Amino acid sequence: MDTVLDIEHLSTHFNTEEGVVRAVDDVSLRVRQGEIVCIVGESGSGKSITAMSVMGLVEAPAGQVVGGSIAFRGEDLLKLGRNELRTVRGNEIAMIFQEPMTSLNPVLRIGEQLMEPLMEHRKMSKKAARKRAIELIGEVGISRAEQIADSYPHELSGGMLQRIMIAIAISCDPKLLIADEPTTALDVTIQAQILDMLRRFKEESGMSILLITHDLGVVAEMADYVVVMYAGKVVEEGEVVALFENPQHPYTQGLLKSKPIINQRQDELYSIPGQVPNPLELVPSCYFHDRCAHCMDICRTTEPALKETANRQKVACWLYEEANPHV
Ligand code: SF4
Ligand code: MG
Repeated sequence: MDTVLDIEHLSTHFNTEEGVVRAVDDVSLRVRQGEIVCIVGESGSGKSITAMSVMGLVEAPAGQVVGGSIAFRGEDLLKLGRNELRTVRGNEIAMIFQEPMTSLNPVLRIGEQLMEPLMEHRKMSKKAARKRAIELIGEVGISRAEQIADSYPHELSGGMLQRIMIAIAISCDPKLLIADEPTTALDVTIQAQILDMLRRFKEESGMSILLITHDLGVVAEMADYVVVMYAGKVVEEGEVVALFENPQHPYTQGLLKSKPIINQRQDELYSIPGQVPNPLELVPSCYFHDRCAHCMDICRTTEPALKETANRQKVACWLYEEANPHV
């Protein structure tokens, strides 16, 4: 399978008054063609910042990609200029967020917002773009498409707006769709419909999806491959079935203790006792050590590397390190 997105050793830092936050710290991940990769983690795990880094949405001076590469179909996005990146964004890579209102323009009609990318990236005439916009509204399951095209965002429900965001996202046939908590704000029934729709579009078009979520029910339902992030790091990754059947990292094991129920929304991940460490106070160690029932001396002083284990999963944990004298 072709690799669509290949992130290698990505590090994204933010400058705060109290110091530098390593929001994403040496993260590598790969999305292949037609595949759905889920990044799962608590808030503050770096999952959204990973996506924003791909989209070029981390802006200096507040934040900065300080290392690594982000290859999209073989081309390093970090080396593209503003205009080149703009051509890729919204065209070959599309993104949808949790809050559609943050991406829609409140004073533009829905139809106009759908026409914009078609005219910009596809060089469609106004008339052709309007026609396509109305078709797209129908394709995302909204009836009375013409009337909706002439509405303003505030006139539509959250579920409808998220459908419109998906219509905008797929309008230029992206190769990659990045979806950051796309259904978190929606009720369970609508959430299931939207996820079904995303999967159907993926199957029809062959696009890939990088789906960011804290909801293991969504992961179980959607993912081919799962990347678990904790405090800016990948702590475990693997094929979804293997990872759910045999989680290896104590953090993943904790998350899976509350078995996700498909189509039932989870507002929060199962809470493992303790808290994510303060990002300003990280010292070389396993960042999960304060919360880990298996913590050993080495965990408090030395960071475990992400290594492939027997069943093709990767895990960063001293329990699986041959070099660990305690194993
Ligand atoms: Fe627990 Fe140590 Fe593994 Fe970290 S490295 S998850 S502290 S056993
Ligand atoms: Mg987020």
